[in-house]
Amino acid sequence: ELNKENEILKIESNTDPLTKLHNRRGIENYIKYYYDTQKNFSVILCDIDDFKNINDKYGHKCGDVILKEVARIIKSNTYKSGYVCRWGGEEILTLLPEIDGHKAKEIAEKIRLEINNRQFTYKNEIIHVTITTGIAFNNNKTSVDATIEKADANLYKGKSSGKNIVVY
Ligand code: GH3
Ligand code: MG
Ligand code: MG
Repeated sequence: ELNKENEILKIESNTDPLTKLHNRRGIENYIKYYYDTQKNFSVILCDIDDFKNINDKYGHKCGDVILKEVARIIKSNTYKSGYVCRWGGEEILTLLPEIDGHKAKEIAEKIRLEINNRQFTYKNEIIHVTITTGIAFNNNKTSVDATIEKADANLYKGKSSGKNIVVY
């Protein structure tokens, strides 16, 4: 019984309650594992565009619903090949072991289009949602931190070039 309780606590401490994705701690274990075993990997860092406006216009609850739906779409496109986490706020990071940056970009582009083409609804309101995405590839020659910083820098480039874009 005690073991079972501990197991549940461990899972909960690595899970984001809103989206049910891994949280940052949860994904860091996996990233460390792949890095330490000298596997290549890509990271996809997605950030919802103008999310503050969505909250302001439709309310925080609506924002929560959209965040959950975006999380579900990202997961449904990547669960077979990787691990998805809520990196923080409205940022979702996907780890793709043994997938290069070009393939990661293709996957991210498919996700971007699916979100862009979808009509999100909340209380009879139709809401258009877009995401901006930064990609980085780690070939074990640079640190994990440098890779995540690269994805973040690419995300920032996408934001300053007008959003709703994947940058690698
Ligand atoms: P940008 O296109 O540059 O990303 O603009 P943005 O408005 O999305 O970014 P900004 O960083 O200005 O605002 C992020 C907002 O996300 C502010 C914060 O209240 C909201 N947010 C973060 N976490 C949650 C959450 O769990 N639920 C809801 N509803 N909102 C959240
Ligand atoms: Mg945002
Ligand atoms: Mg953000």
